[in-house]
Amino acid sequence: MSLFSRPPYVATINGDVFRCVVCQGGLFTSRSIKLNTGALEFLDMAWANKSSLGLICTHCGYVHEFLGDAVQLWDSESGERA
Ligand SMILES: [Zn+2]
Repeated sequence: MSLFSRPPYVATINGDVFRCVVCQGGLFTSRSIKLNTGALEFLDMAWANKSSLGLICTHCGYVHEFLGDAVQLWDSESGERA
């Protein structure tokens, strides 16, 4: 399976277009990054028992990782909210 099998997305952060911090590219693929580990669960760190959103630059591959819901993804082909 290709890393870039899904159509690339344009990302906005609270309404502002997000660009790659490395190459200023504007297209990303996304994947969920699991934060919880067995060790964290053992320590009862429930706040960490969630996923973050990884935005992977389609140009250079840099992974930007976000917590929370400030990121919006938009299909770069249809222009619709992903
Ligand atoms: Zn990049």
